[in-house]
Amino acid sequence: MLALLLARRGVSVTLLEMHKDFDREFRGDTIHPSTLEILDQIGLAEPLHQFPHSKISGPTIQFPDGPFQPFDLKRLKTRFPYILLIPQARFLEFIADEAAKYPSFRLAMHANVRKLVEENGVVRGVQFLGADDAWHEVRAALTVGADGRFSQLRQLAGIQPVKTSAPMDVLWFRLPRLPEDLNVPGGLLGSIGRGYILIVLDRGDYWQTGLVFPKGHYQEIHAQGIAAVRRIIVEVEPRLAKHVESLTDWHQVSLLSVESSLCPRWHKPGLLLIGDAAHVMSPVGGVGINYAIQDAVVAANLLAASLKSGQVAESQLAEVQRQREWPVRVIQRVQSAMQDNLLGRALTSQAPRRPAWVLRAVLRLPFLRDLPSRLVAFGPRRVHLSEP
Ligand SMILES: Cc1cc2nc3c(=O)[nH]c(=O)nc-3n(C[C@H](O)[C@H](O)[C@H](O)COP(=O)(O)OP(=O)(O)OC[C@H]3O[C@@H](n4cnc5c(N)ncnc54)[C@H](O)[C@@H]3O)c2cc1C
Repeated sequence: MLALLLARRGVSVTLLEMHKDFDREFRGDTIHPSTLEILDQIGLAEPLHQFPHSKISGPTIQFPDGPFQPFDLKRLKTRFPYILLIPQARFLEFIADEAAKYPSFRLAMHANVRKLVEENGVVRGVQFLGADDAWHEVRAALTVGADGRFSQLRQLAGIQPVKTSAPMDVLWFRLPRLPEDLNVPGGLLGSIGRGYILIVLDRGDYWQTGLVFPKGHYQEIHAQGIAAVRRIIVEVEPRLAKHVESLTDWHQVSLLSVESSLCPRWHKPGLLLIGDAAHVMSPVGGVGINYAIQDAVVAANLLAASLKSGQVAESQLAEVQRQREWPVRVIQRVQSAMQDNLLGRALTSQAPRRPAWVLRAVLRLPFLRDLPSRLVAFGPRRVHLSEP
């Protein structure tokens, strides 16, 4: 996204991606109202809606003692009062194709960045291993590490993230749609019971399903075999009894390890970290992609003009961190409170309960009820492009 935004402004950008395509392990495909508004600013919201997609407006979490709706985006004042679900690979291809329309953009796939080029303490570019197994070098006024939670650039720069533990992991798999199927108002169903949380996302022709369980229990579940996974699912959500029959092999299931962390420093001379490289986001609320994109937008707003002239001061990189760090801290606190209280308790209790009636009543008050929706949709600070 940053590459696209900079290329649009005439900055020369080389994007290096270590995989040969974007069709890789799934880690979320939610496009929130904040991102849709940004895409709309550059005329890409409508074309994105042309791809097969589904929409979530307000999930319902099914507790044993009744349903609970944590937020409802339908009431928000925005052109896009929903979360758009699009496979991440399609979204990345779409953004890369748009970027490729600008002559100053270059994309190198199968480019595995392994070394920083440094001169007198300033990062001047990177060296990467290409598809030909040979070393290549790219020099740049600014190197951006947008290489995710296991960021190689962060490690090479000697920046250590401060980790906050998330008490859970997720098994991620698809279940088929059946003729006599679930009714999932709002596009997302959550069920809690027997120490597990089940999340079911409406993906049009199938149900994308996540089974959340306490961290460290994977080996135990795996040892019991795939039949145990089927049994757990049906115990938590009996309406999936028929659907789970299709789950017969561990190859159909991915284990997604949940983490959360924040780097004390997102930059050094010539280098900026954004997205999960700077702050690994837990999947709670499904906001990580959108926070990464907001980092990209703020970086483009603050740096494009200087990059065009070929020089960026470290104080400008510090400003990107200053503007983005506090919204990230706020949302990570909220995620951690939800993990420890609501989800943590649900994962350890055999008889989890809905949030107390007081909280449910407070969340119905007109001036408070949209707060969770606004936080999910936009985060604590709405980000827009300064020059569309
Ligand atoms: C289980 C789970 C579920 C999640 N669900 C959601 C969700 O539903 N919605 C949501 O918004 N967020 C979700 N997240 C969080 C989300 O995945 C991340 O916050 C988001 O992907 C961060 O984007 P990014 O661009 O910083 O990093 P990434 O999306 O990880 O992208 C990094 C890119 O860098 C490339 N790369 C890595 N190393 C190198 C290298 N050395 N050289 C070249 N390229 C390299 C990778 O191949 C990758 O393409 C989830 C996370 C987890 C763990």
